[in-house]
Amino acid sequence: MKSFIYVEPSEEGIAPLTKQIASGVRRIPPGLRGPVIGITIGDHLDGKESELGGLMDELIRVDIPSAKGSNNEVISKILTDVVREQGPGILFLGFTHQGMELGPAVGRRLGVPVITNCSGLDWTERGALVRRPIQGGKHFISLAVTLEGGAVLSVQKGAWKEEGATEGGQRSVSVNRLPWKDAWAEEKTEVLGIKEESLEGEEDITKADILVSVGRGLGDPENLPVMRELAERLGGMISCSRPVVDLGWLPATRQVGISGRTVTPVIYLALGISGQTNHLAGMDASRIIIAVNKDPLAPIFNLAKYGVVEDILELVPELLEQIKQRQTP
Ligand SMILES: Cc1cc2nc3c(=O)[nH]c(=O)nc-3n(C[C@H](O)[C@H](O)[C@H](O)COP(=O)(O)OP(=O)(O)OC[C@H]3O[C@@H](n4cnc5c(N)ncnc54)[C@H](O)[C@@H]3O)c2cc1C
Repeated sequence: MKSFIYVEPSEEGIAPLTKQIASGVRRIPPGLRGPVIGITIGDHLDGKESELGGLMDELIRVDIPSAKGSNNEVISKILTDVVREQGPGILFLGFTHQGMELGPAVGRRLGVPVITNCSGLDWTERGALVRRPIQGGKHFISLAVTLEGGAVLSVQKGAWKEEGATEGGQRSVSVNRLPWKDAWAEEKTEVLGIKEESLEGEEDITKADILVSVGRGLGDPENLPVMRELAERLGGMISCSRPVVDLGWLPATRQVGISGRTVTPVIYLALGISGQTNHLAGMDASRIIIAVNKDPLAPIFNLAKYGVVEDILELVPELLEQIKQRQTP
């Protein structure tokens, strides 16, 4: 058995999630995981291979014409062929926008089990014990997965902690370059263009030092102005959980979480947010998390440094009043 890790292109070079996955895979006993092999498609990693030293034993670098580089159908064919030819093995991907598409596509082509959004993994002689959220993150399910013949596992951000090279891990990574095959080009989808998401005059919440983040507990969009004012008075920005976007109360550019933005402010004030894993994945690295929720058992309190069991609709106007008094010269 081998462990393959898809190295997703990232503006940061090697994405923290890729390093987290590689660190986690390396902690599996070598007899169970086999060699750790990265797969990178295109030139985005050229010159940065040494950053993977100690995390991966080998890197397979596949050539791709630039016009095909963002077509997930093509990429899924490449991953399928590489794992089929070099495997059997387990393909690990990040549970990212791209990983959500690639995982099931590759798993179906390979005919192996696919487990998405894994938040915990344990390994035994007989297979893997995988933990993943269900019902929008309200519950977790544990699955025993037979790994014979391979599997595809997409891993949630933060499920494994990133570590440097493990003791004894080799420093350099050997790169095995595979040429492009025309057979991969016969896709049914064609990328017509790539447009960077426009903030359309909105602030960039990833740049904020203070975020006042509202959840479904807001109750009504009429309650937004007071939350906005709190954010402004604190010199921060307003952000939100996904239901707030789904309800049309704030634009998607304000959403924090696995399908939204990843934020790391100094202070993250979570107002009426329950703290499901899909939300936490986008803000759990914030320096100080303060949560206000009227449910004392809300999971957000497990992560928060400071917690207040209160109704936000009563607490925030009062807090705002006190801030105003202090700010008045
Ligand atoms: C594939 C997928 C991707 C997802 N991506 C994301 C994502 O990127 N970001 C995200 O946020 N979610 C995401 N979700 C949804 C996620 O699983 C949760 O459903 C969501 O985060 C819950 O949002 P919430 O905490 O605002 O709402 P709820 O879970 O409904 O919680 C509302 C909270 O408000 C509290 N409350 C209610 N009224 C008050 C009050 N007056 N004062 C104080 N507290 C109050 C309640 O006690 C409760 O804890 C995703 C789901 C899926 C399936």
